[in-house]
Amino acid sequence: MINIENLSQITHFYCDQQSHIILDKEICRSCSHHACVSACPAKCYTLDAETGRLDVVYENCLECGTCNVICDKKAVNWSYPRGGFGVSYRLT
Ligand code: SF4
Repeated sequence: MINIENLSQITHFYCDQQSHIILDKEICRSCSHHACVSACPAKCYTLDAETGRLDVVYENCLECGTCNVICDKKAVNWSYPRGGFGVSYRLT
């Protein structure tokens, strides 16, 4: 069965040096809900409760696009990774 817990067994990441997710951290700092943190299935987003700093680990991105859609502040500039990079699903 395929579920989020065994994703590491069915995926491989070809990490780029260049992030395909750019955050406008000024906007993130003023966001009241940080929906990206709870919505990302790969837990790429972390919020430091003390400083209010939001960070993203683009290397673990599953390319679902959820963060791009759920951010109602337009603080997430998301695109697919460059050709040859990103996640590869091994479903067979
Ligand atoms: Fe997480 Fe999906 Fe956004 Fe990637 S595209 S950071 S997996 S929510």
